Amino acid sequence: MTMAAIRHDWTLEQIQTLLAQPLNDLLFEAQTVHRQHFEPNQVQISRLLSIKTGACPEDCKYCPQSARYHTGLAAEQLVEVEKVLTEAKAAQAAGASRFCMGAAWRNPRERDMPYLLQMVQEVKAMGMETCMTLGMLTEEQADALAEAGLDYYNHNLDTSPEFYGEIISTRNYNDRLNTLDNVRRAGMKVCSGGILGMGEQASDRASLLQQLANLPTHPESVPINMLVKVEGTPMADQPDLDPIEFVRIIAAARVMMPASHVRLSAGREDMSDELQAMCFFAGANSIFYGCKLLTTANPKENDDMALFARLGITPEAGTAKHIEELKPVLPKPQKDELFYNAAP
Ligand code: SF4
Repeated sequence: MTMAAIRHDWTLEQIQTLLAQPLNDLLFEAQTVHRQHFEPNQVQISRLLSIKTGACPEDCKYCPQSARYHTGLAAEQLVEVEKVLTEAKAAQAAGASRFCMGAAWRNPRERDMPYLLQMVQEVKAMGMETCMTLGMLTEEQADALAEAGLDYYNHNLDTSPEFYGEIISTRNYNDRLNTLDNVRRAGMKVCSGGILGMGEQASDRASLLQQLANLPTHPESVPINMLVKVEGTPMADQPDLDPIEFVRIIAAARVMMPASHVRLSAGREDMSDELQAMCFFAGANSIFYGCKLLTTANPKENDDMALFARLGITPEAGTAKHIEELKPVLPKPQKDELFYNAAP
């Protein structure tokens, strides 16, 4: 079988042709590519902690953390390093291999940097991979975070360049791309994806994929989020996106960025087990784990592990012990070998 090529020259027309295939053909292609690059029954697990919640000056229409919308979210200061470490230890004990720390900022202020660097250094010293999402970064800030040991930086493109202005007015697409560039040049890995179901056209979804796949280096991690409609935000009453369209985007992301982890991200709480299973089949191989994302609900950990057990999926690293502990409460698998030791 020929290995799927890593390409950075996707045209919009090629992406639209890929997406327009009969679903079974698209899924087969995605699954074939997936198996060339990944162990097909493993999913990487990250844990996300909000280290500074709410009161964000930006106006992202989907976001309950923007100070412009009345969502009832209580704003919080930057949390103390000690609390971050306690949460990171709990996440590690629960099996997460990566700890992501998110702050609702336009960009970090210089006076916050020493705390952020300390968080990175100490979480890293625990043996976990580290990730942060703090808004836009200057070259100097990116360098400092990389030097402290930050492995990943998350900065989503959110949507297509054409639709971006409908969602956010306080910064532009190039600002996003510049930060990704600063992160890459500092030597960190990139986590970048988007949100579907915000009222964008099918061509916008194809265009978002084009932006991501045509970056000079593919993001190592590509979160694909389904909009979580939060009361009080301008997106609260957005019509639902067809879940099959969501699966198609996951599959196309897998085909176009064969070696990247495609993360089934926000919106899982409202997805059926069957839809999540289909997303894993389409090539999603990463999730956030834990019952809260930054501020919105996420499936309960035991629900995730029960679903993994039913699907014969194991976490990519480090969670074998946790699965053993959960065995008594999980639905009995048909074959015992569904549980196997995934520890490296
Ligand atoms: S998505 Fe990020 S930048 Fe936008 S309002 Fe929310 S916290 Fe602020």
